[in-house]
Amino acid sequence: MKHLDEYRDPALARRLLGELRATATRPWTVMEVCGGQTHTIVRQGIDELLPAGMRMIHGPGCPVCVTPLEIIDKALAIAARPEVIFTSYGDMLRVPGTSGDLVGLKARGADVRVVYSPLDAVRIARENPEREVVFLAVGFETTAPANAMAVLDAAKTGVTNFSVLVSHVLVPPAITTLLEAPDNQVRAFLAAGHVCAVMGWTEYEPIADHYGVPIVVTGFEPLDLLEGILMAVRQLETGRAVVENQYVRAVRRTGNTAARDAVAQVFRVTDRKWRGIGEIPASGLALDPAFAGFDADRRFATGDIVTRESPACIAGEILRGTRLPTDCQAYGTACTPRTPLGAPMVSSEGTCAAFHNAGRGLELR
Ligand code: SF4
Repeated sequence: MKHLDEYRDPALARRLLGELRATATRPWTVMEVCGGQTHTIVRQGIDELLPAGMRMIHGPGCPVCVTPLEIIDKALAIAARPEVIFTSYGDMLRVPGTSGDLVGLKARGADVRVVYSPLDAVRIARENPEREVVFLAVGFETTAPANAMAVLDAAKTGVTNFSVLVSHVLVPPAITTLLEAPDNQVRAFLAAGHVCAVMGWTEYEPIADHYGVPIVVTGFEPLDLLEGILMAVRQLETGRAVVENQYVRAVRRTGNTAARDAVAQVFRVTDRKWRGIGEIPASGLALDPAFAGFDADRRFATGDIVTRESPACIAGEILRGTRLPTDCQAYGTACTPRTPLGAPMVSSEGTCAAFHNAGRGLELR
């Protein structure tokens, strides 16, 4: 299949692995930031083929996993209101809040709808002027442009019954936080190719320089990941620490200027709490005051939200890369993709779900 098989060629994979084994002289630890990359690495067993001692740590780049519990609970409170049509991407519907999820709420009669684009939510608002239509606007820099376009479209066409519940997060501050942690073990990063397709990689250059870590912008197919890991190890072995681009077919240094402009127009940078990690300064996007009228958080008073995580869940340590899903007592027993206790088991991009779907460690449960 064109544009697929060519990035999964077994002969090329063997050649890249051979070069990697010939290059690596030390047990380097590399983190892939993105959950999509984690999914490929675990499903294809790439981490099990690396040179002896070398480790991949799975980073916090699953948007479903890091959306704070408070936002899920606010979403549940807003979606329960009779005047609301609550819209979201499908993968957020089964994320467990303190008491239930959006799927359960929908089963009890709430008008919760899956959309494939926030522009669909604006259309639904246009078609239902007597209802309030809310879109759950979460994710990294990848989803922010479409959400910005939806707000701009609603503002331009006078759709006043549309609003967004925003919890966007940004990758570079998360990388910095991981590097500042006293127990950090990461020596190089694979940056997420789709994030950099939007934002470019200029924000990563001062990080690579200041912390002396190689950062390789990397795609999502098996050969992309093998090549990205090889490029990172070549830098580590030669004492270099710069940003390189493996994903040349999709990413330019300055990213997508139109998408960045839309994001800059609608959002401003804010402090953001990450589920399992805590608050990271200047790590999120909130609506700019000029678009405050589209802020669902302001439009619907949800009262004080008291959150409670499952005491069994060690998602925070998994998202920081200090423990593996198989270290969790609930993994594969109380917590499965059908009965998730924590967000990393919900989305296929979550590390716990990626491990479970690949059957990792289940024979011991
Ligand atoms: S296996 Fe489940 S309970 Fe354990 S860390 Fe992962 S999501 Fe949390």
